[in-house]
Amino acid sequence: MAARTDQTTDPALLQSLLQARRGTAFFARKLNELTDADLDGPSLLPGWTRRHITAHVGYNARAIARLIEWAATGIETPMYSSPEARNQEINFGATLSPIALRHLFDHSAVHLNVEWRDLPADAWHHKVKTAQGRTVPAEETVWMRTREVWIHAIDLDNGATFSDIPAPVLERLLKDVTGAWHARGTDIGLLVKVTGTDPALGDTNAANQTTITGPLPALVQWATGRGTTGVTAARDNQVLEQVPAAPKWI
Ligand code: ZN
Repeated sequence: MAARTDQTTDPALLQSLLQARRGTAFFARKLNELTDADLDGPSLLPGWTRRHITAHVGYNARAIARLIEWAATGIETPMYSSPEARNQEINFGATLSPIALRHLFDHSAVHLNVEWRDLPADAWHHKVKTAQGRTVPAEETVWMRTREVWIHAIDLDNGATFSDIPAPVLERLLKDVTGAWHARGTDIGLLVKVTGTDPALGDTNAANQTTITGPLPALVQWATGRGTTGVTAARDNQVLEQVPAAPKWI
């Protein structure tokens, strides 16, 4: 018989699951505020309508559910068969009727939640592979989903902002993004600093640093390539007229 509660008892993992579930509920709320006609409108992502966002978030849940099935069974099932297949699936999903699109989001979210809930405690440590080819423990899928639902709720462009995202999620996002820059060496001379806190993130050893400062939500908005509102850039104690674009994240 399927369990009605999470199999894991790890408090940190249960907390992460809560953030993912809250994010999913938040995305659902923003999606439900949109009329069927609104779905045809543009999102914050270039070239994508709200239909593309919704289809992507739905198929992302299915792809992550495949990783959980992999962790549970040991039978390798990748997120997507190829990057092209992933993109084709999104483009197809964007053509679905509004009701089918909404069902895709709802059903895929419920399915993923059941997969998470029923995953035996030990299997959360089993290794799976992300779409980018990283080998991670199954527990990483919770964070992968968390950032998708929170950020893409904002991308729907009907009122959600980075201030709606819980601070722990914002903090991890900023670490994620600056970590990705560092791994690629694209953060040369770039420092990121949350107003009123220490220390800064980024290239802390550089001589000629550009420091980007702002409240945490504004910094994450900038770092994820979604605008420069609320952040300032400075070099040698001079405020720059233009905030430079953040290096690519994903
Ligand atoms: Zn995404």
